[in-house]
Amino acid sequence: MDDTSYFIGLGNNDTVTRKKAGQDYVKFWEAEARNLHWFEKWNDVLDWNPPFARWFVNGKINASYNALDVQCNKNGKKVAILWEGENGDRRSITYQELLNYVCKVANTLKSLGVKKGDRVTVYLPMIPELIVSMLACARIGAIHTVIFSGFSSQSIRDRVIDSKSKVIITADGGFRRGEIVKLKQVIDEAVSDLDFVEHILVYEHTKTPVHMGKKDSPWNSLVNGALEQCEPEKLDSTHPLYILYTSGTTGKPKGVLHGTGGYLVHLYSTFKWIFDIRDTDIYFCTADIGWVTGHSYVVYAPLMHGATQVIFEGALVFPTPARIWDLVERYKITILYTTPTALRMFMKYGDSLPNSKDLSSLRLLGTVGEPINPQVWKWYFKTIGKEKCPIIDTWWQTETGGALVSPMPGVETITLKPGSATLPLPGINVSVVDEHGNDLPPETKGYLVVTKPWPGMLLSLWNDDEKYKTVYWSKYKSMYYPGDYAIMDKDGYLWMLGRADDVLKVAGHRLGTAEIESGFVSHKSVAEAAVCGIPHEVKGESIIVFLVLKEGVVQSKQLEDELIQHIRNVVGPIATPDHLYIVSKLPKTRSGKIMRRLLKSVASNEQIGDISTLEDEAAIDDIRTAFAELQNTIQKN
Ligand code: ATP
Ligand code: MG
Repeated sequence: MDDTSYFIGLGNNDTVTRKKAGQDYVKFWEAEARNLHWFEKWNDVLDWNPPFARWFVNGKINASYNALDVQCNKNGKKVAILWEGENGDRRSITYQELLNYVCKVANTLKSLGVKKGDRVTVYLPMIPELIVSMLACARIGAIHTVIFSGFSSQSIRDRVIDSKSKVIITADGGFRRGEIVKLKQVIDEAVSDLDFVEHILVYEHTKTPVHMGKKDSPWNSLVNGALEQCEPEKLDSTHPLYILYTSGTTGKPKGVLHGTGGYLVHLYSTFKWIFDIRDTDIYFCTADIGWVTGHSYVVYAPLMHGATQVIFEGALVFPTPARIWDLVERYKITILYTTPTALRMFMKYGDSLPNSKDLSSLRLLGTVGEPINPQVWKWYFKTIGKEKCPIIDTWWQTETGGALVSPMPGVETITLKPGSATLPLPGINVSVVDEHGNDLPPETKGYLVVTKPWPGMLLSLWNDDEKYKTVYWSKYKSMYYPGDYAIMDKDGYLWMLGRADDVLKVAGHRLGTAEIESGFVSHKSVAEAAVCGIPHEVKGESIIVFLVLKEGVVQSKQLEDELIQHIRNVVGPIATPDHLYIVSKLPKTRSGKIMRRLLKSVASNEQIGDISTLEDEAAIDDIRTAFAELQNTIQKN
């Protein structure tokens, strides 16, 4: 573990402190809730009937009103979205324009028979219409369920059946890496025989010819003809805002159900603390809206703060690997929020690319999604932030709605440590515990738990309260179990060590995947690493590691020996892998996370299970080939 310290602190846009909030978290969140617009105030801050939490009970609120009308009352001319298409198209949309557009779509949905509580599936590329569709649902109390536009028809079908969506919003196509993804065609394959789907609203984006059947309606003419005013529904705080299926890193995707009032309060406050958001900022979160980061920190949180943000369609490294840095330069982006996997990809291309661009507008750099390797953290800090921008490592999950652990440059000056997400946010109570749920002393590895409810907490899993109880609330009594392995250091800082399911048990020691992987990534030749354990008679488990080398590095026996020596030096002899493979790519979810369970299944010749979220099936072939070699070696010996 690297504990080089970096002192960083910025503004002071709030007076909140972690300590003060901790004294009475319910009262604390009640005060935060006053920052939002409520049609009617709540009469009970928290109804906690474990494991079900209901926040701001009987309060009436509307997400689209807080995101749009509140901003228009201040300054409707402010730009909300600066959009850039893959082919260079650009759009700039103000808050007032966004509000008018949302109202038109809300009225269109009403005309198609959508009512409060109905589900609407949204399968759109990264275009403003995706945000507009979500906010239109929120305006009339329909529950949106966004499906990432990279999913295939079977994955969509499963999700549409699970949510029983009445209406689907899609487009003719979307642009990705120079190709057109035919979205409408995928939808036709997925849902054509599902009777409960009444309408499909089709936005014309790529001008790809599509088949229009009797359920299909053209967005462009319907929306153009709709009224620009639509009264927001005064919804219960606990009214479901959306269903979002998790990325499926550990298994079959789960339909996470989020409410309205608590969720919005959580987002409003955390966005202010974490990103110190100011009126002049140009914010850019690279997440696709199809994932929770996009829902929370592209759609709801920035809009509730009247922020201006950049949104792009396509890939961050297409048409050239410089695209990301071109965007920063062109729009003078001040806050960048991305993932460790994206950063490792940028690093692979070397420093000369970012060094050739003007990145001086940047002032804050965020990361989310996986543990960030300290080496990657330092690269982000030095090469991208020029040692001036704090790295905001935010730990959270689809289920938590918003960040739970993160530095707060908007509030305080603290020491950052590369690889640590630092401290729990105000009003958030977490611990690291042993198998029995007992608090562990500092510097001891264990399971991360959340000991008190928090406002962004999921309501349940869609139509499956039992699964909700089993997955999150059965390992420990009255404590939420996120499924992550972690350690708290003597300063109370949290270090995420990887998924609890992936922990390796080697000769009586427990090793988180992140510990070993970060050790490898700290070697100058390694771009990415994934480890898994397979049963070993003597040691319990033996360590298998898969490495992707940096561009231009040549594989050799000598390099492999050097890498093994390196891991022995930086982590210890206990982390010595029994087998090391160099592969060209690792199996990842479409949200960019390494799917370690696949490595394990292939290794133990098991069924590989649900791979609907796997980005590139070819990556498994690489792993299979490597394991076939391994089997041969074992047989020969
Ligand atoms: P599934 O639950 O379907 O397996 P998933 O867990 O990948 O998929 P998400 O909700 O997108 O779906 O991801 C949350 C998980 O990502 C966390 O539980 C954690 O393992 C990891 N994670 C997120 N942010 C961080 C971070 N800053 N540091 C370490 N790990 C992180
Ligand atoms: Mg998860």
